[in-house]
Amino acid sequence: MRPLRTVAVLPTLITLGNGFCGFLAVSKIADALAAEADSGAVDTQKLLTAGYLIFLAMVFDAFDGFVARLTKTSTDFGGQLDSLCDAVSFGLAPAFLAKVLMEHGNSEGIREIHPKLALLLTAPFVLCAILRLARFNVQLEHEDEAHDAFQGLPTPAAAGMLVALCLLFLDAEVARLLPFDSKFLVYALMPLCPALAFLMVGKLHYVHFVSKLTRGRRSMQHLVGLIGLVVVFAFYPELFLAVGLAVYTLSGPVLAVAEKASGRRLMDRPPEDFELSPEEEALLDLDPEGWELAYLGLGSNVGNRAALIRRAIEMIEQEPEVRVGTVSDFFETRSLGGPPQRNFLNAVIAIETTLSPGALLDRLQEVEALLGRRRLVRWGPRTVDIDILLYGERVVETPRLVVPHPRLGERGFVLEPLSEIAPDLAHPLTGQTIGEMYQEARDAGRLEESLRRIRHELSLTRTGHPSRSEPKRTP
Ligand code: ATP
Ligand code: CA
Ligand code: CA
Repeated sequence: MRPLRTVAVLPTLITLGNGFCGFLAVSKIADALAAEADSGAVDTQKLLTAGYLIFLAMVFDAFDGFVARLTKTSTDFGGQLDSLCDAVSFGLAPAFLAKVLMEHGNSEGIREIHPKLALLLTAPFVLCAILRLARFNVQLEHEDEAHDAFQGLPTPAAAGMLVALCLLFLDAEVARLLPFDSKFLVYALMPLCPALAFLMVGKLHYVHFVSKLTRGRRSMQHLVGLIGLVVVFAFYPELFLAVGLAVYTLSGPVLAVAEKASGRRLMDRPPEDFELSPEEEALLDLDPEGWELAYLGLGSNVGNRAALIRRAIEMIEQEPEVRVGTVSDFFETRSLGGPPQRNFLNAVIAIETTLSPGALLDRLQEVEALLGRRRLVRWGPRTVDIDILLYGERVVETPRLVVPHPRLGERGFVLEPLSEIAPDLAHPLTGQTIGEMYQEARDAGRLEESLRRIRHELSLTRTGHPSRSEPKRTP
């Protein structure tokens, strides 16, 4: 590693400002406790100050990255420094504040919580915050910058959630606005601490909401909405933060459920890290004997969807070890579940390939990434999704790739185009033909019908269309 000779002064100072606020918050909490010895009560004013300092640390935290990007001085050093400061400001300080409130909030008629229990509930928060920061640092190196989601609740958001609740409780004036007795907030802290700890290190994805809100060109309504939020914030900052962060915290589990239910990706999340066994690697790397017939599903719901799907098909065609055969019509389909989204355009293509399933997936993901990076809005959602639906008659089950695609039979947007180009193709696991599967699922009312069919004159004149266009039949 290269020795570090210079540092970018401004971003470094701002990051250290974050760490300093964290330390200041901790020392304020200690002062608040010390007051108990003198006056018999914890100094809630000092605790309030500590809470605001943690939010101030967040402002510094938001700013350093911004300044670094502005001055083009983003460095590994900056990233590490940032995480270390975050560990203090968003790990240690909020957990300490929560612990003190659990133990000493009893002036408000709250039953005393045993110090050991308070420790047990808050320690996971600190430790998981630190784990989350370390994981983020190593993940960043592999991750495509263009992704728009984090894995695990970001540490500052978890800290914000915890502190916002503490502030609601501590600020008597704000507490009066609540429709319930503010002492319940202290009880709410108890399950919240471990829950946040779990969400931080968990696998759920969270959208990068600051960039979502502020980047790119947006409508006038969007701007008016943002201004409205700022006004609400100006009047009731604690309430606003608590509600806003609660919504964000819940968005992880809610989006995950919505993605499961709709079978569609609702956010641009980074690919997962997979640990594969040697057997699984072998399954993925097994080359076909000659040209293997496979089917791919394509979908897009941003930008010029048809042009993007065409472009994706052209890029797949350019791959020397892949020949593109029949292309289905494009089908416009409703996007199900989750936040309101634009309709999808879906298509299925037949290809022949000499690539192993794993190598094919690699190439397809490259195409996805290349098309994703060409987008106009840098942090906009990913543009094209390409799935391997079937690969010959192979059955591949690994964490990285599952073929036949496991949700093929439940998806109208796959079955409709697929049954158009390969009605007699047999599913390797059930032996049922695609046509039968489509018919059966439709009769059972399990499929969402497409909204419209778009014919296209996609002519792929390159030599070498699938020679084996004869569909395979069940024996
Ligand atoms: P779904 O699989 O429900 O359609 P998705 O396409 O939105 O979900 P992605 O985020 O595109 O999900 O893919 C997540 C991961 O799924 C990929 O990184 C890939 O490793 C894995 N995967 C497993 N099976 C397949 C398959 N048959 N085709 C493409 N990717 C697959
Ligand atoms: Ca998909
Ligand atoms: Ca996919």
